[in-house]
Amino acid sequence: MEAGKKSCPYCAEVIMTEAILCKHCQSDLRQKIRISPGWPRPSERRSDLGSKIVAGIFIAITLYVVFDFYVSNTSENKERTQAREAAERCREEVDSYSGPEVGKNIVADVCRKLEDELRKSLSHSP
Ligand SMILES: [Zn+2]
Repeated sequence: MEAGKKSCPYCAEVIMTEAILCKHCQSDLRQKIRISPGWPRPSERRSDLGSKIVAGIFIAITLYVVFDFYVSNTSENKERTQAREAAERCREEVDSYSGPEVGKNIVADVCRKLEDELRKSLSHSP
C-alpha cells in the first residue's frame, strides 16, 4: 500500500490516512480514533491537579484569615499562645498536605509569612 493511505474499515477500499469520511462508502472514520472510556484524558488529569492547587490556595487563605482573627480579637495575654497555635496548625497543614508539590509550596510559603508576621506583632507588644 502507498504511504499516507490505508484501507477503509467498512468497505476495504484504499483511502487517505487523514480521511475523516470514506469517499467510497461515506462512512465516518473519526469514530475509529476515539479514546476508549476509562482511559484518563490529559485534560481531566490537569483539572484534577488544578483542583488540588486550588485546595492548597484555599487552605492558605483560610490560615491567613484565622491568623488575622487571632491577632485582632485576642487580648495581649492570650495573643502569644494563640498566635503560636495558629503557626503550629499551619505547619501541621503542610505536613498533612497530600497534593502536588506546587500546592504544598504555596501553603509552606504562607506559613513562613505567617511566622514572620507573628514575630513582628510580638516585638510590637513587649
Ligand atoms: Zn469505505
